[in-house]
Amino acid sequence: MSSERTASLGVDIGGTKVLGLALSASGAVLGRVRQPTPQVSDAAQGRPVGTSVAEVAAAVIGELAESVGVDPRTCSIGVGVPGIVDRTGTLVFAPNLQGAIGADLAALIARPFERAPVAIDNDANCAALAEVHLGAARGVDHALLITLGTGIGGAAIVNGAVLRGANGFAGEFGHMMVNPDGPPCPCGSRGCFERYASGAGLRHLAAQAIAAGTLDPQFASAPELLISSATNGDAAALAVVDQFCWWLARGIANLCAIFDPELVLLGGGVIDGKAVVLEPTRAYLATEIEGGARRRPPRIEATVFGSDAGAIGAAILGERQR
Ligand SMILES: [Zn+2]
Repeated sequence: MSSERTASLGVDIGGTKVLGLALSASGAVLGRVRQPTPQVSDAAQGRPVGTSVAEVAAAVIGELAESVGVDPRTCSIGVGVPGIVDRTGTLVFAPNLQGAIGADLAALIARPFERAPVAIDNDANCAALAEVHLGAARGVDHALLITLGTGIGGAAIVNGAVLRGANGFAGEFGHMMVNPDGPPCPCGSRGCFERYASGAGLRHLAAQAIAAGTLDPQFASAPELLISSATNGDAAALAVVDQFCWWLARGIANLCAIFDPELVLLGGGVIDGKAVVLEPTRAYLATEIEGGARRRPPRIEATVFGSDAGAIGAAILGERQR
């Protein structure tokens, strides 16, 4: 009798890249494949973007399965997408993957493998699953995940499970309004949390400082440069990062009033675990949080898996829905 080799395959469809990871039963990464995400402009060729995205995801799955020597028809497969997925697996809202809205990605991705639809969820929910099962939130019942990229991705872990809400819209922390007089947001509202505490938010705060003459214009479109200059002690850069940390703490304080987490995980390319962001955010949270000195604020820590979290969590999702 032959024992068939198997793996959990996870795919994270991002705005710019599709990352696939194969996990062993113990959660070790066995293989990794990456391809560019088809862009909205591809729709001009007369093909729906959803179909192109599904084809690339399927190609990543095929390549991944081959690289680790497994059969994709018998493996569990999970997919994370940068948008909101309803309970049927249809993508209903995706500002960074507009053309794929309405596509039944779960079925389209499964089709070349002649198998049932794959498991699918929002990328931040997948990242939270990765942290709960294998990462920084292991054994933690109440936690929040906040990923700071161009915008803000979020997920709430309540009683040890990722909260999806009635329609899959839970955890959209980035679009919590923090200033009704703030700048307009692509979601249609204004003064959203992510206008202040994301890569775009850092750019906005830098632009204000440049307009006020307190910051060098070289920082206009380079949040990473601003963070690294602040880390190196540049006073003007530090002042902007300090403002950023206040807004981040203010938003976290609002979320604490709702969720009362014991742990807040911060991830994403903008901060990537940097002390220059983590430390002031902890200090501001201690004063901004309801109950201040009379309660212990949640721990604020960096995520463990960084940019692999979505694909790792997608693999776990697939395994759980098998
Ligand atoms: Zn918004």
